[in-house]
Amino acid sequence: MGGWNILYALINFAILAAGLFLVGRKLAVQMLRSRREQLSEDLEKAGQAAEHAKELLAGMEEAKAAGEQERREILRAAASAAEAGDQSAAAEDRKAAEQIAGEAEKDKQIRRRVARSEINAQAAEEIVEEAAALLSKTEYEPARAALTEQLLSRAERELRITKGDLAAFRSSGSIDAELRSAVLPPETAETRIREAVCRALAEAGQQVEPQQLRVRVIRDENLIGGACLRVGDTVYDGSLAGLLRRAKRRVAQADNADRELIDSLRELLGQTSREPDVYQTGTVISVSDGICRISGVSDAMAGELIEFEGGVRGMVMDLEKDNVGVVMLGSYERVQEGQRVRRTGRIIQVPVGEELIGRVVDALGNPLDGQGELHTVHSRPIESPAPGVIDRKSVSVPMQTGIKAIDALVPIGRGQRELIIGDRQTGKTAIALDAILNQKGKDMICIYVAVGQKESTVAGVVDKLRQHGAMSYTIVVCASASESAPMLYIAPYAGAAMGEYFMYKGRDVLIVYDDLSKQAVAYREISLLLHRPPGREAYPGDVFYLHSRLLERAARLSPEAGGGSMTALPIIETQAGDISAYIPTNVISITDGQIFLETDLFNAGVRPAVNVGLSVSRVGGSAQLAAMKQVAGRLRMDLAQYRELAAFAQFGSDLDKTTQATLHRGDRMTELLKQEQYAPLEASDQVIAIFAVNEGYADAVALEDVGRFEAELLPYVNERAPGLRERILAGEKLGENDVKKLRDLIAQFVESFS
Ligand code: ATP
Ligand code: MG
Repeated sequence: MGGWNILYALINFAILAAGLFLVGRKLAVQMLRSRREQLSEDLEKAGQAAEHAKELLAGMEEAKAAGEQERREILRAAASAAEAGDQSAAAEDRKAAEQIAGEAEKDKQIRRRVARSEINAQAAEEIVEEAAALLSKTEYEPARAALTEQLLSRAERELRITKGDLAAFRSSGSIDAELRSAVLPPETAETRIREAVCRALAEAGQQVEPQQLRVRVIRDENLIGGACLRVGDTVYDGSLAGLLRRAKRRVAQADNADRELIDSLRELLGQTSREPDVYQTGTVISVSDGICRISGVSDAMAGELIEFEGGVRGMVMDLEKDNVGVVMLGSYERVQEGQRVRRTGRIIQVPVGEELIGRVVDALGNPLDGQGELHTVHSRPIESPAPGVIDRKSVSVPMQTGIKAIDALVPIGRGQRELIIGDRQTGKTAIALDAILNQKGKDMICIYVAVGQKESTVAGVVDKLRQHGAMSYTIVVCASASESAPMLYIAPYAGAAMGEYFMYKGRDVLIVYDDLSKQAVAYREISLLLHRPPGREAYPGDVFYLHSRLLERAARLSPEAGGGSMTALPIIETQAGDISAYIPTNVISITDGQIFLETDLFNAGVRPAVNVGLSVSRVGGSAQLAAMKQVAGRLRMDLAQYRELAAFAQFGSDLDKTTQATLHRGDRMTELLKQEQYAPLEASDQVIAIFAVNEGYADAVALEDVGRFEAELLPYVNERAPGLRERILAGEKLGENDVKKLRDLIAQFVESFS
């Protein structure tokens, strides 16, 4: 019963401390300035609360008789106190916020959120310290000893040997066990552990004499109370120090709702304390260049998250017989040989959900935009299998980019993967950005994954998105050039996981990976450091799989599977236009087509610099709007013919009439397909403009006036042909009447155009 005793003490303390903490919270805004004094005052109160808790404890015998009933009442009282505190806190907050004049409402919220989470973390730290002091008092000595006994008898009943520990036992012929206890453990402890381990080994099919085992029993006062048992790499933590550590972490994270503070404390103290915390540990054996070798963690999985001392994290990449290779995520300066690490038991996950929309996050989903904590409820592993054949549906709905040269010539459908490829500075990012801007009001969620770019470039992109109001449906995932290779490596997968969440909920998603060549380079770096054999261009053998497993996750789902879609626009940078290099050919073969951008065209002023001959879209044709298909059907061929003739015409001067006409029309069409950045065009407008030039109505227009011709024609036609726009967008073909009307209108317009 000693365990119960201490549990009641803790629950009472936690409730009172949390209640006081809540009341103290109403001063959150002022606390930003005079937080220290305020907090110490609050803590004094918390200390008094601890005294109260002790008094309550005196009458604990009766409380125990009343059992659960009593506890529930205490909790209810605390909850209503918390609510009352909550309301007064909200009123105070409001008043204080109003006092800060001239501040935008959003800024206020952000500041309050940041302040709250800071205060939470600090208060949690100090509440836990207080609790530790309370629990260390001599009067709880028997209760603390009882916790050790509790763990021991649990181990006798329930100890199991994990697969990894068993494998280690088979190869070394022995297994280590160590019991650390806060109070002097019973003399029989060592024998009991020996027997428990022997029993567990026997259950796993290994017969061994108790004397063969290496068992140590140590006293460790840092544990405060209870004990910690390690068998092989697996730790059973039943200590009060461990309990408080977990409580602290929960409270520090529970910054969104004050109720959660009490709830998490209550849950943790009420339930978890009776269960030891079971986890596996290992030891750092070497660390260099962000790669860490770890012995132990015998059951680690590929892709699992490993926690180092001080909160640094790593990802398991290599599983060897007696060690695992871990790549470090984030700064690893403090990681040293000999340090203990801890398995988390889960594959790397990122937060997902609506809360991410409008935010800029890093590859692990941590906010980078200074807008406070993310309060997501859901998370997803960064890697997950792509939807299977049965779950897919063919591409049939267009994903309009708003760029004439693309929507007319290389149409993209929802669920398609279209590569944007070209040398540096050829407008690759510009196309992806315009595609995102054009999704405004189209019920599409956009994700822009920046891999290995300069932070200033990404800031520019975010700025542009914001200016055009596109952040309200966009998530930016950023792993900039200054971050470590593993972050660049996982960023696209993290973005894909965020997109998948929406896709399986039936939403449409557009995801841009800018760019995958840098991800491949990061992966090459990791692979070489892990001593994997280099292959072509020193990339590891599985670099194809790197991109195929990412891009296969883009899909259009059948209604039964969720019905959403994820359209992927991966970007690849080429060197001197060489699309037959290793990574470009890989990604070209994975995707459903490519948009090839050329430096020469770009420099000649043809922007976007789409090379019509080398750009294709393999599945998007079936998703193209019927009217667009009608007017742009021959455009590709015509343009190809024009390019060929234009190349010849450079040499000869004597050209026949038809050739001249083709060249003349081609010039105008090329001019029409030029488009400014950040000016996406509605699909119906594209149809009208292309129709007009195709039919020769712009033949009399001077080249430099083609832009103006288009700009003036579109409102003219739209005004006079009501309903046409809607019908084109609904996917209807242009009927005979429509064509006639268009011809008439455009002819009229040409008359008046000068
Ligand atoms: P990098 O290889 O550096 O990532 P990139 O291929 O992504 O370059 P962008 O950054 O998109 O190229 O564009 C390069 C420059 O060209 C930018 O200054 C951009 O503003 C300009 N640009 C891109 N597209 C157009 C366009 N359609 N009209 C005018 N300027 C453009
Ligand atoms: Mg770019």
